[in-house]
Amino acid sequence: MGEAGSGTRTAFRTCPLCEATCGLEITVAGNGDGEQVVRIRGDRDDVFSHGFICPKGSTLKQLHEDPDVLRRPLVKRDGEFVEVSWDEAFEEIERRLPPIADAHGPDAVAAYVGNPNAHNLGAIYLRGLLKALRTKNLFSASTVDQMPKHVSAGLMFGHALTIPVPDLDRTDYLLMLGANPWESNGSLCTAPDFPGRVESIRERGGKVVVVDPRRSKTAEHADEHVFIRPGTDPLFLFGVVHVLFEEGPTDLSLIGDHVNGVEEVERLAAAFSPERVAPACGVDAGTIRRLARELAAAPSAAVYGRIGTCTVEFGTLGSWLVDVVNVLTGNLDRPGGAMFAEPAHAPRKTEPGGRGYRMGKWESRVRGLPERNGELPVATLADEIETPGEGQVRALITVAGNPVISTPNAGRLDAALDSLDFMVSVDIYVNETTRHADVILPVPTALSKSHYDVALYALQIRKVANYSPPVFERPEGMPDEWEVILRLTAVLLGLGAHADLDALDDFAALQLVQSAVAVEGSPVAGRDPDELMAELAPRRGPERLLDLMLRTGPYGDGFGADPDGISLATLEANPHGIDLGPLTPRVPTGLATPSGKVELAPQEIVADVPRLEASLDRHRNGDLVLVGRRHLRSNNSWMHNVHVLVKGKERCTLQIHPDDAASVGVADGGLAEVASRVGKVTVPVEVTAGIMPGVVSIPHGWGHDVDGIRMSVASQHAGVNSNLLADEEQIDPLSGNAVLNGIPVTVAPA
Ligand code: SF4
Repeated sequence: MGEAGSGTRTAFRTCPLCEATCGLEITVAGNGDGEQVVRIRGDRDDVFSHGFICPKGSTLKQLHEDPDVLRRPLVKRDGEFVEVSWDEAFEEIERRLPPIADAHGPDAVAAYVGNPNAHNLGAIYLRGLLKALRTKNLFSASTVDQMPKHVSAGLMFGHALTIPVPDLDRTDYLLMLGANPWESNGSLCTAPDFPGRVESIRERGGKVVVVDPRRSKTAEHADEHVFIRPGTDPLFLFGVVHVLFEEGPTDLSLIGDHVNGVEEVERLAAAFSPERVAPACGVDAGTIRRLARELAAAPSAAVYGRIGTCTVEFGTLGSWLVDVVNVLTGNLDRPGGAMFAEPAHAPRKTEPGGRGYRMGKWESRVRGLPERNGELPVATLADEIETPGEGQVRALITVAGNPVISTPNAGRLDAALDSLDFMVSVDIYVNETTRHADVILPVPTALSKSHYDVALYALQIRKVANYSPPVFERPEGMPDEWEVILRLTAVLLGLGAHADLDALDDFAALQLVQSAVAVEGSPVAGRDPDELMAELAPRRGPERLLDLMLRTGPYGDGFGADPDGISLATLEANPHGIDLGPLTPRVPTGLATPSGKVELAPQEIVADVPRLEASLDRHRNGDLVLVGRRHLRSNNSWMHNVHVLVKGKERCTLQIHPDDAASVGVADGGLAEVASRVGKVTVPVEVTAGIMPGVVSIPHGWGHDVDGIRMSVASQHAGVNSNLLADEEQIDPLSGNAVLNGIPVTVAPA
C-alpha cells in the first residue's frame, strides 16, 4: 500500500470477480472506520493485466458497501431470520447438524460449493470441511459448467486440472468454440484483457475464427464467424480430424513419441466426414475442410472450447476433440499452441507418468450417476433430497453457491430445499437458495480479505504470481472466511462450536508440511517438519499454507535451497505481481497418465463415440433449442445487486431470429412464453439476426423475483431463471454435466 496524497492511500489488489485476475489500483480516503474507496481503476503496473479493467472490477466498492450484504450471522426462528452472535450461530449448527449425520449416516448431509470459491484464498480450507462430512453427496457448480473438460483432460493428460490453455500471446491462429471472452473475459483460461490479446493476434497478421450459434461480441471481433447448431461441436471437430487424417497434414514431430492412440482416433474419425456431419452441424462441408487446412497450415494454432462445448449432451467428447485437434496439428505443448500452466504454488513434476485420472469411485443413490472429481452431478441433487430411503439427503451445506438459480430444473430443487431438516449456508446474501437456510454465516467482502488465485493460476497463459493483502480491516468481531469454514469443520468433526481453531489450523499446516517433506525430489525432502513450521511462523491461516506452497513450488526458495527463489514475502514486496515468463513445454514430465504419454483415445471416451454417431440424424429435426449467453456486466447469479451493473436496457431477454419470430408469432419488445419439458417462463423478446435460425437464447443467472430474498436491487431487475427450463434428466453421461445448452423448447406469444 502506498500514500496517494493527503488523507488518502493506494492499495493494489487482484480482482477476484472472474477468472481474468486483473490488477486493481484502489484509492482509499478517510481514517479508521470512516475510510472509503474513492476510486478503483486498472493497475497499469500489474505484470499480467497492465491496467486492463472491466466494468465489474470497479464495483468492488459497491459490493463492499452494499447494505444488503450480511455482516452478522442469521438464524431462522419461527420462519424469520434473526441476527445472532457468532457463538449462537455455531451453537445452533452444533445442536442440529451432527445429530442428523449420527442418526442417518454421513450421506444424509450434502454440500454444494459455488463458483466464487475458486476465487477465494480462504477456500483452501474447504477441502477439510468436505472431508469432515464423509458424505458421498458432494456437489458443485462444476457439473453445470466445466466437468467435461476436467474429465477429458484427466483421461488424456492424467489430471483433471492439466488443462491446456491457448498461448494467446504467441499464437498465429485461434479457433474458439462456444466461448465469448469479450463478455466473460475468459474461462478455464486465465488471461486478463483476453479481448486485447485476441486483437493482437489479428494485428500481428494472425487469424481468429469463432464457431458459435450466436454472433456474439467475440464473433463480431473475429476474422470469421461460423454459425453452428448447439451441441454439435464434436461433430464439427470430428469433421476437422477426418480431414487432418485424410489429407495427411498432421504434424506429430514435436510430441509424437509422447502420444498413444493416434491410429484409434483415425479409425473413429473415418465415420465423420465433413459431408456427413455438415447437415447436423449446420456448417457446410467446404467450410469444415477449409478450417482444418488452415489449422494445419498455420505456423502455430490453438483451438479453445468453452462453456458452449461443455454444457451439452456430448460435452466430454467435444472437450476431448478440442485437444485432439491441438495434438494432431502439432500444436499441443508448443509456443503459440495449447500449453500447460505451471503455477508458482504447485509442486513441479519432474518425471512423466502418475496414477492417472480415476473416476467413478462411487455412484449417486437414486439415479446411479457416477462420481467425477470427488463429486456427484448436481442435476441429481433434488432426487437425493426427495427420494426416501437410506442415505436420503436431509441436511445441506452451501458455500457461496446459488443452485436454485444455477442448476437444472431449478423449480424442483427450490421446492426440495424446503423439505430439508436443516440447512446452513456460508454466503454474503439472503438469495434464492440461502433463503431456505436455517443458519447463514456471512464472510467478509472481497476488500476485507486477502487474495491469491490458487485455482485460476493453474490455467494462466503466462507464469505470474500475485498476492494481495486485505484493503480494509474486517468489521469488529467478524471472523475471516477461512475461520468460518474451519469452525464449521470443527463442528462436523465433533470438536464443538467452541473448538480451539488455532490448534486445528496448526494441525492442518503441519499435515501439509509433513506431506511436502515426504515428496521425493521436493526441495524440502527429508527436512524436519518442526523446523519448517518454525520458519513459517508467525503466519497462520491460508497465508501460512500459501507460503509453504510457494516456497516448495517450482520457483520457490525451498526454505534456503534456492536463495533466489520466491516466498510469500517476495510477493508481499511486489504488489504488482511477479512475472515468471511465458509458458514453457511440459510434456512429458507434466503428464500424469500411467503410461506417461498423452492418451489420445482413452477407452471411456472411445466407448461414447457411437452415441455421437447415432445423433447425426436426430440433429436435423428443425425444432427450436435454447442456449444461454453471458454479459460483461453480469457474473452468474450474484452480482445483480450492484445497481451500476444492472441499470439500463433490459438484458434478460429471449433472443430469437427474425424468421423464427415471424413463424411463432412473437415481436421485438413483446413478451414470449418459452416452455420446455420441465417448466416455462415469460420473457421479453429481442429479435435479432445475430442468432442462428432454430436457436433462441436466454442468459442464465437471473430470476430474482422470488419471495424471501434480501437483494433489493436485484429484485427490481429480476429477469427470469433460464434454469426453470433446463431438464435435470439431460446430462452428458461421461462427465455428469448438466445440459444447459441445446434444450428443446417451444416459443409462443405470452
Ligand atoms: S475482467 Fe474479471 S478480473 Fe478483470 S476487472 Fe473484470 S471482473 Fe475483475
